[in-house]
Amino acid sequence: MKLDLRGVSVGVDGHPIVHGADLVVDDGEFVALVGPNGCGKSTLLRTIYRALRPAAGLIAVDGDDVHRLPARQAARRIAVVAQETPADLDFTVAEIVAMGRTPYRPDASADEKLCAGALDRVGLAHYTDRVFATLSGGEKQRVLLARALAQETRLLLLDEPTSHLDIRHQLELLHLVRELGIATLAVLHDLNQAAAFCDRLYVMDAGRIVAGGPPGEVLTPELISRVYGVRAVRRTQLVFERLADDPLTDEV
Ligand code: ADP
Ligand code: MG
Repeated sequence: MKLDLRGVSVGVDGHPIVHGADLVVDDGEFVALVGPNGCGKSTLLRTIYRALRPAAGLIAVDGDDVHRLPARQAARRIAVVAQETPADLDFTVAEIVAMGRTPYRPDASADEKLCAGALDRVGLAHYTDRVFATLSGGEKQRVLLARALAQETRLLLLDEPTSHLDIRHQLELLHLVRELGIATLAVLHDLNQAAAFCDRLYVMDAGRIVAGGPPGEVLTPELISRVYGVRAVRRTQLVFERLADDPLTDEV
């Protein structure tokens, strides 16, 4: 599985937002997309998962133009956890996760097992009968990740997947995604986390990809100051790590 963007430009309502983006995610790679608010990260992701069409350029998944694939084929290749969670879904958690199976021929018992496994992986095994709308923001985010896992794709797109999560669940999610070994492109805000978890990252600024590579090479004080307008200082700081033998349990 390889995601390959060449010269992708995107406009929204006649306004150019993304300009000539080149970006690659190889099989099994965990790649972050970072950049200031409003620089076009979500717009680029939405174009990859076909919510928007590019004005120019090509988005290929395993060599096929995603915008020419039949919807079902595309959904078997790309799963997404979008930034805005649907607000008032009157569905149960089990029903939401089962939506991940939509692109496949139904197989009730196998699907049920898969969905239960996906919920278990995000630490919400006992949430199946809860109504989605009644969950906290963080729980919703994890349910939507479970739905993406149930979709069994080899490419995962995540738009700020940790934004509603407390520090422990942020780390759990990033570990989980890394351990999946699925090609992943994730919009992340925390540059330290991006550096700690990702194989490579791309930096976007004002609609353009301005840098890409291993975090240690890309996240220089010069680049951070140019793109974010802040000074980056390396200091000893509190570092949060997951407790190895403390598996995620359901909270009540
Ligand atoms: P990011 O995810 O990096 O914060 P977005 O991709 O959401 O940024 O937005 C990029 C820019 O596009 C922003 O300036 C935003 O206001 C603009 N934009 C997004 N959607 C629309 C829209 N429907 N109409 C006009 N402008 C939009
Ligand atoms: Mg965004």
